[in-house]
Amino acid sequence: MATKALPPGSTIGILGGGQLGRMTAMAAARLGYRSVVYSPEAHSIAGDVATAHISGAYDDATALARFADAVDVVTYEFENVPEATVAECARRRPVRPGIKPIHFAQHRLREKEFFRKSGLGTADYQQIAGEGDIARATALPGILKTSTEGYDGKGQIRVHSREDLFAAWDKLGRRECILEALVDFECEISAIVARGLDGEARCFPIGRNEHRDGILRATAVPSGLPSAVEEQAKDYGLRLAESLDLVGLVALEMFVTRDGRVLANEMAPRPHNSGHWTIDACATSQFEQLVRTVCGLPLGAVDLLASSRMINLIGDEANDWARYLAEPTARLHLYGKGKARPGRKMGHVTYVMPRK
Ligand code: AMP
Repeated sequence: MATKALPPGSTIGILGGGQLGRMTAMAAARLGYRSVVYSPEAHSIAGDVATAHISGAYDDATALARFADAVDVVTYEFENVPEATVAECARRRPVRPGIKPIHFAQHRLREKEFFRKSGLGTADYQQIAGEGDIARATALPGILKTSTEGYDGKGQIRVHSREDLFAAWDKLGRRECILEALVDFECEISAIVARGLDGEARCFPIGRNEHRDGILRATAVPSGLPSAVEEQAKDYGLRLAESLDLVGLVALEMFVTRDGRVLANEMAPRPHNSGHWTIDACATSQFEQLVRTVCGLPLGAVDLLASSRMINLIGDEANDWARYLAEPTARLHLYGKGKARPGRKMGHVTYVMPRK
């Protein structure tokens, strides 16, 4: 074991109080770790299952210092945590993964440039920051996305012509945007990679993702894709983790084109919705793997134990919990959120089928 390992009994600090933090705290508890959640709300669903919850704004230096002093290592469950918040914590405790992954993940243009520099293929793209960029635009038809603050399909408009492009850019507030050529993809996939303090990295089996209204609907594993495509996707994930010098997890979402090319779309340096199936169908869950990496423990095995299909329970769908409980191959996970608003991720269910 690495000499810098934090043994069970140590405390993990988690920035963010949502379901990803909740499942990380549950995995930490299973291995005998404590966890302290930091989030702005007075009450959080991650805090419900953690050892403690500290409520404070992300720019409250005093509360952040109290949080950092109460833990041995800090991680985050969302990539839009302000860089200054991470820097504040990093003055007192190691933050894993650190600032570098969020610096790139928070900005789509920087992210795509970083993918290319790391040797990953992407769709053609260009910066749209002014009318001159629109006049020179060639990545059409395409999707115009704001460089910052877009998620789950928000801040994105499909455009077919330069006229469309101008109207879309205007609608998005004439902010800095990225225009990406529209990919005629066969499917969307993701690779989730864990990389430890000693630089060892492992990629979970590739998941095939289905989206609806810009939100992940389902992930199936195995993906059913040719092994050459899966190997390419894993290679991209591993290269990315290496070039980020990551200690922690990174999820890389990709397109597979109809002619079998893999194109990197977006990364998230944290556990990912498309990796929830690992809790029930993999030797090690993504959440346990995160705990292992941030504590400097050896990585867990990533063997697939069963074929699986994870389905998000969005809004009212979670009201069908009794039905899922009655299905023998369904594993139900509810996040303990109060009100089922449309579009809100309330839980997920993973169907596990023994492998033939
Ligand atoms: P994103 O926020 O970049 O993950 O985009 C949300 C969803 O929009 C993706 O999961 C795709 O289904 C679709 N999408 C995004 N970018 C492209 C693209 N360049 N070509 C085709 N579809 C895209």
